[in-house]
Amino acid sequence: MTDVPARGNNFVAKIIEEDLASGKVERVVTRFPPEPNGYLHVGHAKSICLNFGVAEQFGGGCNLRFDDTNPEKESQEYINAIKEDVQWLGFQWQGDIRFASDYFDQLHQWAVELIKAGKAYVCDLSPEDARTYRGTLTEPGKNSPFRDRSVDENLELFEKMRLGEFDEGACVLRAKIDMASSNMNLRDPIIYRIRKVHHHQTGDKWCIYPTYDFTHGQSDAIEGVTHSVCTLEFEDHRPLYEWFIESLPVPAQPKQYEFGRLNLDYTVTSKRKLKALVDDEVVTGWNDPRMPTISGMRRRGFTPRSVRNFCEMIGVTRSDGMVDVAMLEHAVRDDLNKNAPRAMCVINPLKVVIENLPEDHLEQLTAPYHPELDLGTREMPFTREILIDAGDFKEEYSKKFKKKLTPGNRIRLRQGYVLEALDYDKNDAGEVTLVRAKLIENTLGVDPEDGIKPKGVVHWVSASHAVEAELRLYQRLFNNPTPDKGDADYKEHINPESLVIAKGWVEPALANVTPESNFQFEREGYYVADRFDHTSEQPVFNLTIGLREDKALQKA
Ligand code: ATP
Ligand code: MG
Repeated sequence: MTDVPARGNNFVAKIIEEDLASGKVERVVTRFPPEPNGYLHVGHAKSICLNFGVAEQFGGGCNLRFDDTNPEKESQEYINAIKEDVQWLGFQWQGDIRFASDYFDQLHQWAVELIKAGKAYVCDLSPEDARTYRGTLTEPGKNSPFRDRSVDENLELFEKMRLGEFDEGACVLRAKIDMASSNMNLRDPIIYRIRKVHHHQTGDKWCIYPTYDFTHGQSDAIEGVTHSVCTLEFEDHRPLYEWFIESLPVPAQPKQYEFGRLNLDYTVTSKRKLKALVDDEVVTGWNDPRMPTISGMRRRGFTPRSVRNFCEMIGVTRSDGMVDVAMLEHAVRDDLNKNAPRAMCVINPLKVVIENLPEDHLEQLTAPYHPELDLGTREMPFTREILIDAGDFKEEYSKKFKKKLTPGNRIRLRQGYVLEALDYDKNDAGEVTLVRAKLIENTLGVDPEDGIKPKGVVHWVSASHAVEAELRLYQRLFNNPTPDKGDADYKEHINPESLVIAKGWVEPALANVTPESNFQFEREGYYVADRFDHTSEQPVFNLTIGLREDKALQKA
């Protein structure tokens, strides 16, 4: 990918660079390990850009591994969506996609080896008792009364667990580490639990499933991951990660590193809460354009490059922080400003009749889609009746309105001729309903011969050829900077104007664009043809973002 900005100055990249230089590592291998229990969001994008980014930067590879140890919350729908999102961002995993469940046989065998080494035992404490025995942050835990079971008894009980002879919750397999450790994660953590549920990958083969902690590091080792990069909440799990790697005959010695997760203001980034927005129909789905999911941002019209640029802008640090969502919006606006084709859409129309053109005048004006980039051209039909934005006409001239069409004043039609208004009609409510104007001849691309130059340029479409489009005007989903902090339910902070449906008249070329085409509708905003609903018969455009940062509007 040539369009990705330079990387390499984050602390993870530095560690990798040193490990490669010292020969500690020959080829860097990272992994992105989503749990397929929801769609990926903007926080995951940060992790994806980091993991795939450093692998790419140093000529290594990044695995996509589904961390699928909680089958009841997981589904194939999520797996498919995650794969699509990673590729949409512009990344490709090395080899086939992987599943932690691919390693269930190996993990089970290692659990048996831990038992044989006297480092794991079956514990029958009820969840409540186990909690009491675990102690607190300030008090050490107590050994479970089942801690000293013999190896043989443990082997037999664990096998019975596997064969489904116990009910869910009846017992668990725990690592035997240290109930007095100041690190709670080392107080004999659970490594296997009974779950009599169907698994989307392994079917009904297993009724015991390994925990995240027992799965993650070993999966890294099996795959030859060199740098296992995760978010800071796993820092306290690192000693456990290392304990398993040291205690088991794993084929490699991966190392865990932690970075700060992305928190964005005005945004919720918890899969559980995003799922509730979907389930409660606050939004239309995981890919609703207001959702901070990758598929939502995609449908909203964000480009992969803008999301990657954002991740580059915020950097990677070893601390958690809050990022201003305006930075994400800026990244999107900046990318679209540079790269999006320009086109015209009139949202608040006023008809202008050009009286010195014949009734059946039809001229095709050829206009480039972009002032600098070679994005091709389109034909814009120019006719006697056109639509302009009502705000571009004023009844009376004043200095303030010198860029507006007013009787006696000229403007240029964008990509077209110069017009001068003659007079206008009003309805009983005092609104201007129609403007009569004259075209100044020989002004296509050149100034008028009489030397009276127009000051303003307005966007327009042919009244008879424009196509009516549905416009979905999106704003931030939440009207509170920290919607999920505090006592109030975050759903109480939904911005009631986060979606407003409007109408627009677009140039006919726009009806035929493919879904997901981005545009700057000149002087209106950045829009995208809806990925799912846009058709040439019924064009649908989503407002991606306004042309300028407008605090009053955005912070609703
Ligand atoms: P959530 O809290 O949204 O449910 P999660 O951590 O449970 O997220 P996973 O599917 O386990 O979701 O995450 C996959 C990877 O993405 C993990 O390595 C995780 O650390 C990383 N990740 C998740 N959320 C963020 C975030 N907000 N910022 C950066 N990385 C994140
Ligand atoms: Mg997780």
